[in-house]
Amino acid sequence: MRLDIITIFPEYFAPLDVSLLGKARRKGLIDMAVHDLREWTHDRHRTVDDTPYGGGPGMVMKPEPWGEALDAIAPPADVTGQPAEVVGERADGVPRLIVPTPSGRPFTQALAGEYAAEPWLIFACGRYEGIDSRVVEEARGRMRVDEVSLGDFVLAGGEVAVLVMVEAISRLVPGVLGNFDSVTDDSFAPGAMESLLEGPVYTKPPVWRDRAVPEVLLSGNHGAIARWRRDQALRRTVANRPELAARLDPESLDKHDRQV
Ligand code: SAM
Repeated sequence: MRLDIITIFPEYFAPLDVSLLGKARRKGLIDMAVHDLREWTHDRHRTVDDTPYGGGPGMVMKPEPWGEALDAIAPPADVTGQPAEVVGERADGVPRLIVPTPSGRPFTQALAGEYAAEPWLIFACGRYEGIDSRVVEEARGRMRVDEVSLGDFVLAGGEVAVLVMVEAISRLVPGVLGNFDSVTDDSFAPGAMESLLEGPVYTKPPVWRDRAVPEVLLSGNHGAIARWRRDQALRRTVANRPELAARLDPESLDKHDRQV
């Protein structure tokens, strides 16, 4: 999988070299390039923003550097004559462009799974009041574009949102996690966990500060452990995310579930 990230703060992405993701990059499972948007400016101050049309506070990211950056990273297929210089290796096919914004569709585990199956993603990190809307409009003419929100809050820029998305997506790429099965037990995992939060987890020692691990987990009875885990997941979901619990398919609930 190839990931291209366009930002005015490339240094934000240093953490992508550590832990699971760093390993995945070194193993060649994920090929990632971080691009400085200012490379595609042409004035002395390397300007990427300007005042908003219609007035109002703040600044808006100018369309020209964004257009040039996208042309260079994913040159339009119909360019004839002098094509823009290709930056790095090109993955096969057309990339999918992801633009983080509070006004986008919600980022979910299901969407992370969808993105993990793509060969090539480009992330556009906005700053200030966001990116001139014509950039997304124009890009839609030649690639799939998703405006995606991390939640109902406003960050200072898209970099942290992209870090979150890249981490959630890349752990779903086959080979990245040591034990891929752990993904299917995660909160929100497609299947039995789709609308459930994972319950509490424990490790050794069996007693710590007078607190014992629930006995069933030491019983070796796999059926009873699975039942206990499901009960805990249901309890936690009802307590912390009642709106998720309300989405559970009644057909998927057995008699025991209903008592929880
Ligand atoms: N004026 C914009 C609004 O109210 O929708 C907020 C702009 S915000 C200060 C600057 C950038 O941070 C956005 O362009 C986007 O890249 C990123 N951002 C902020 N909140 C976000 C969220 N909840 N999800 C995804 N990206 C976000």
